[in-house]
Amino acid sequence: MSDELLRPFGTSVPAPTPSPASARFWEGCAEGVLRHLVCDGCDEILMPPNTHICWRCLSRKLSWKTSSGRGSIVSWTVVWRAPSSGFHVPYAPAVVEFEEGWRHMTAVIGCVPADLVVGLEVTVEFHPIADGASLPYVRPIGAEPGDTMMLE
Ligand SMILES: [Zn+2]
Repeated sequence: MSDELLRPFGTSVPAPTPSPASARFWEGCAEGVLRHLVCDGCDEILMPPNTHICWRCLSRKLSWKTSSGRGSIVSWTVVWRAPSSGFHVPYAPAVVEFEEGWRHMTAVIGCVPADLVVGLEVTVEFHPIADGASLPYVRPIGAEPGDTMMLE
């Protein structure tokens, strides 16, 4: 394991190309707001936001809600070989379940790979990438870099 701090990618990482359905999500990231799409008819959370119709009840009345940005790690890995020169390693892609009950693939920052465990509590934080876009990352709550974080 590396004792190298997990950190944001930086502006060399290309920006996403939002779809009409995901544009509000990415606008929120640029504004420092984590949003999730919810069906007004049945309260189903529609994430990732790739639809204009509820996949559960077929309602077209959907609303964007603001997430608390707090959640916990469901699954994670550590990448040691960069997929392109814009990425530095190591980095830690993770599936996080946010308090509202939706899951999102993100990357963990602010700790070292040895700190990562399932159930680790995290909070969202935004950092810029290319073209004025921002990515949502998560940071362990209360973590000091290099702390050994044990779940009770
Ligand atoms: Zn619905």
